[in-house]
Amino acid sequence: RKGNVIITGASSGLGLATARALGQTGEWHVIMACRNFLKAEKAAKSSGIPKENYTVMHLDLASLNSVRQFAENVRLSGKPVDVVVCNAAVYLPTAKEPTYTADGFELSVGTNHLGHFLLARLLLDDLKQSDYPSKRLIIVGSITGNTNTLAGNVPPKANLGDLRGLAGGLNGVNTSSMIDGGEFDGAKAYKDSKVCNMLTMQEFHRRYHEETGVAFASLYPGCIAETGLFREHVPLFRLLFPPFQKYITKGYVSEEEAGKRLAQVVSEPYLTKSGVYWSWNKNSSSFENQLSEEASDAEKAKKLWEVSEKLVGLA
Ligand code: NDP
Repeated sequence: RKGNVIITGASSGLGLATARALGQTGEWHVIMACRNFLKAEKAAKSSGIPKENYTVMHLDLASLNSVRQFAENVRLSGKPVDVVVCNAAVYLPTAKEPTYTADGFELSVGTNHLGHFLLARLLLDDLKQSDYPSKRLIIVGSITGNTNTLAGNVPPKANLGDLRGLAGGLNGVNTSSMIDGGEFDGAKAYKDSKVCNMLTMQEFHRRYHEETGVAFASLYPGCIAETGLFREHVPLFRLLFPPFQKYITKGYVSEEEAGKRLAQVVSEPYLTKSGVYWSWNKNSSSFENQLSEEASDAEKAKKLWEVSEKLVGLA
């Protein structure tokens, strides 16, 4: 049978390019988990994914209720869950003030980390039950959360500190809206959320790989400088960022190439190793990359898991 892959945020950018790469093979049915149904439907159509190879299902990661409802709807659809890709994200680098999810968490960490954390936890049972030979849970990471790289050292740097803001609920009322308890900074909140994504993947691996056989992975597909991720940035940045990445850092990849890379992590038999953070070199071959000290801190991963569990109502 065809494999079923759920991709969050498949209405644009990397998610859409991955949906297209997989949906056109005929070997995959893509469940596009999106907050804007019409946008997703139009995007799927115009990128030429055959109708029988995709389904759009509503998911708003900025609402825990919506995440729960989505997991329920997947179950009701009767489709086995073979691969889950946590790809959606928001990035608010120019925001002066924090904004919040339906449950009152700062929006970047609430969407990118907490929404996906609950989703992945709820779908783990479904993954476990699937009879697909190669089951995977993939969380899209980023170089910007990795302070062992040049890009990760551009200020403000990611830093989760002792998680005091997160433990307090990240609501900006009685605690800070930042994980480390500091002043709100939208760019840092995004980087912090990506560190959470990478820590979560490793904690899943430690807790569940042996028991479930699911491969847990993260990746950095390269800098896809033209996606909607930068929509909130100032116009001059949006104009100069793609050529800067193309000619100066040489980290640039097209949406299509990045989509192919993520599609490899979903489907290729040589990328089944669990607990790995994948990257690609200049010749587009994949390799196991090193995470920064913070993004591979097992103690922090455990603590993050426990605090997050409480916030999303699992503990
Ligand atoms: P895009 O902005 O193009 O895509 C993000 C997607 O997330 C959109 O489909 C968006 O939906 C969706 N989304 C946002 N909020 C929610 C929500 N509350 N519920 C459901 N879906 C939501 O950016 P990219 O394609 O660049 O980003 C995809 C992933 O790649 C992210 O995880 C990002 O961190 C990562 N990444 C990107 C890099 C880059 O250079 N661009 C580099 C490294 C990693 P909608 O279409 O409705 O807005």
